[in-house]
Amino acid sequence: MTSGRSLLLIADIGGYTEYMGSHRMSLAHAEVNTARLLEKVIDAAPRFELIEIEGDAAFLALPADTMDSDATVGLAFEAAMAMHRAFHIERQYVATNLCPCRTCTQATNLKLKFVAHVGDVATQTIRQRRKLVGIDVIHVHRMLKNPVEVPEYLLLSEELYRTASTSIPGPTHEVSQDLEGIGPVRAYFVDVADLPSAAAPLPDPSLLERVRRTFGVAGSGLPYMLGLRRRRRTAAAF
Ligand SMILES: [Zn+2]
Repeated sequence: MTSGRSLLLIADIGGYTEYMGSHRMSLAHAEVNTARLLEKVIDAAPRFELIEIEGDAAFLALPADTMDSDATVGLAFEAAMAMHRAFHIERQYVATNLCPCRTCTQATNLKLKFVAHVGDVATQTIRQRRKLVGIDVIHVHRMLKNPVEVPEYLLLSEELYRTASTSIPGPTHEVSQDLEGIGPVRAYFVDVADLPSAAAPLPDPSLLERVRRTFGVAGSGLPYMLGLRRRRRTAAAF
């Protein structure tokens, strides 16, 4: 087991459960769409290591031992902005594919939010899979349950926020949280809509690409529609 300081980032897709219902095709398409969105989100932050997919969220980490403080916060924002943009480009493809199911037509309701923290983590490798452990890993996960009311945001732990002297690229708002097993903490969020990247327009999906995506989602949903595969369990490790 090794240990060190790491920047911890969770990107969490929200918005499906409210309207998905229990129709088999809708469930299958929700799974396909979420997987595709998560892939794009993860690809958009190549400096981070993907530690785990946790239901509709991706848990990523980046060693921060040798990084100066401003760089750490800067990287959290840079990754969040790139991931948010990748998410919305892909979400537009999902929403404009030609599948009429509820899941696909209402994909515009999907949102992406982030929580980030910096702390000491230990690394365990079990059967070639790297796993991060420690109180700070629990801390970042518990931050997902928070009182922030804007739909898309990056929430920084106080530890991470305090390391920044200059590099926060938008207005920050303070919130209080009582983290189970950790206690009361302060955290700071930036509304993604206030970040410079939110102003850049998204490209329009071409018809050809929309048709291609429609076949993609229809094909992937087929085994579910035929009842050949069971829906995967929803991970809830934390
Ligand atoms: Zn669909």
